[in-house]
Amino acid sequence: MKVALIAHDNKKKQMIELVNKHKDKFIKHQLFGTGTTGKRIMDEIGLPVHCYKSGPLGGDQEIGAKVSRGEIDMIIFLRDPLTAHPHEPDVSALLRLSDIYEIPLATNRKTAEMLIDNL
Ligand code: PGA
Repeated sequence: MKVALIAHDNKKKQMIELVNKHKDKFIKHQLFGTGTTGKRIMDEIGLPVHCYKSGPLGGDQEIGAKVSRGEIDMIIFLRDPLTAHPHEPDVSALLRLSDIYEIPLATNRKTAEMLIDNL
């Protein structure tokens, strides 16, 4: 499966812990990520991730374009609901596209665990 991994800054540590915990599963799938999240997963866990631009610089939109082309099967987007983000419109657009194309998308750790169980 093609899995997109995105985490807001305050959730990046949680993303690293989550991916590391399930490394044996993620290693069998193709991983994509926004710039900073993807680079941290590669550097800190050693899994290959195809990195797009950083989220605030268009990375969420790049992943959205992949969703619209049927090139993403699952999204884990650990969002920080307590901080304002300048690229909120891009985030909303990605969530919207995931609903249009019925792509499973988790926005918090517990939902992500449930999706990972189905990987
Ligand atoms: P980042 O982008 O992984 O480049 O930090 C994530 C986001 O904030 O959308």
